[in-house]
Amino acid sequence: MKYQIIIFLLVLVYACSSDEELETQSFVSSEMMPYFNSFEEEAILRGIEINIEELGISGFLENLDNDIVGQCASLTDGSREVRIDENYWNRSSNLSREFVIFHELGHCVLGRSHVDDADRNGTCQSIMNSGLGGCRIRYGTNNRSNYLDELFLGL
Ligand SMILES: [Zn+2]
Repeated sequence: MKYQIIIFLLVLVYACSSDEELETQSFVSSEMMPYFNSFEEEAILRGIEINIEELGISGFLENLDNDIVGQCASLTDGSREVRIDENYWNRSSNLSREFVIFHELGHCVLGRSHVDDADRNGTCQSIMNSGLGGCRIRYGTNNRSNYLDELFLGL
């Protein structure tokens, strides 16, 4: 008798947890997942707790038109999608992939707009540059942490 009750409770718990998953359904392409995880880790290092999945943000690789390499789309149900151009992805380095994903998550997660400020050498001051503002993107291992401070903390 006792044994039966325990089994019933386990089934209930399982049913509840799968309902919750349906409410916050998000899908992130397995190729993009490491970068989503790294975004959360870099946020935590700066004292900001973010759970991208709980925010209902998905990530897809697809073919985007008109030389667009990435976009953050807000859907009518309130969910958001990071879409990265598959051709761009396939020809890009890890750092370039990180740059474009972090830029789109800057829009989708942090709600940031474009910043096209340049330093006196013409280098973009923010990962949130539009790509159309004339500043040059120089995102490398040497200045990555400065860019991430600016992205998460506005420094
Ligand atoms: Zn943008």
